[in-house]
Amino acid sequence: MPKTNETVLEIDLGALTHNFNYLKSKLQPDTKFLAVVKAFAYGSDSVAIAKHLETLNIDYLAVAYAKEGVLLRDAGITTPILVLHPQPANFKTIIERCLEPSIYSARVLNEFISVAENQLQKDYPVHIKFNTGLNRLGFWENDVNHIVSKLSGTASVKVKSLFSHLAASEDKNEADFTKNQITTFKSIVKEFKSKLDYSPWLHICNTSGIINYPEAHLDMVRSGIGLYGFGNSVAEDKQLKPIASLKSVISQIHSIEKGETVGYNRAHLALDFEKTATIPIGHADGITRVYGKGKGFVFINGQKAPIVGNVCMDMIMVNITNIDCKEGDEVIIFDGSHKASNLAESSGTISYEIITAISQRVKRKIISA
Ligand SMILES: *Cc1c(COP(=O)(O)O)cnc(C)c1O
Repeated sequence: MPKTNETVLEIDLGALTHNFNYLKSKLQPDTKFLAVVKAFAYGSDSVAIAKHLETLNIDYLAVAYAKEGVLLRDAGITTPILVLHPQPANFKTIIERCLEPSIYSARVLNEFISVAENQLQKDYPVHIKFNTGLNRLGFWENDVNHIVSKLSGTASVKVKSLFSHLAASEDKNEADFTKNQITTFKSIVKEFKSKLDYSPWLHICNTSGIINYPEAHLDMVRSGIGLYGFGNSVAEDKQLKPIASLKSVISQIHSIEKGETVGYNRAHLALDFEKTATIPIGHADGITRVYGKGKGFVFINGQKAPIVGNVCMDMIMVNITNIDCKEGDEVIIFDGSHKASNLAESSGTISYEIITAISQRVKRKIISA
């Protein structure tokens, strides 16, 4: 790979294929695979990711908001797209762009049916979301009768799937809680299906659910973080390949004398002679201030250089006193071997947060498979 001469987020589609095949190998042959591509495909590039997943015969895609689905449709993506957290204000757009809403409350059900009827829809696919313990979005078990009676009063929508979301599938200490969620879901769907004359698909597993609860794969699984290369455990991280590499360059090197300070608020005081490198990436790019003051780090010529002082909007300064490097040299913030999850942990956060935070200002470079 040629070294970079500017800040860039490289997206490796070969790694995506690897992760997809690895996760798919855990499924029964007839279990469908939904790829979660919300939040720009976890901070990468949702169009490039969705297009590549289409070449791998992905069954379904999911986004959080209608706007994210519109972006994919505009780019020519034809795979069905589940919108996990739609708002009634966007229901007309959802229907116009062939997006499929998650229906998570009585208000949302009523509003969607009324828009679908106005648009003269018949059997428009919807996905009913149940809350089984996450307490975030979804109907309760005792809403089943209400939903079914509401559905029987209209021909405008048809239930494509029933689903729920696990609260702690990555945490083995919460296995009892997770198993209880799965049992609750199974009992809700049993009751629901007994009142319908057709069988919607069932799904509850996210990436860690795929890995830890094979008995709950059901008709489809929904994976996000695993596709992007993180498995929420040391063992699984070894099997997966991070698809995104965040790289930059050294803009300038400074010699700092003992007693001088570096950066805003004079947050770093040199207790001895130091050399620092200024890197063109800052909190506006997603390297938030939590990484400042020695917590976060980058790699230069294979060596770790901690961030000194406060993170600026467009820059960080790192300590290179003992690193052999020069202006223009490449800087690795994270890649396949310097994992984003380690950088995240240094500052008390998780892989999901750091990768989705890389802002749209950072150029994306797609490395084809
Ligand atoms: C984001 C999301 C997922 C994906 O979870 P991962 O842990 O990234 O695999 C699955 N289902 C729902 C409802 C989500 O919101």
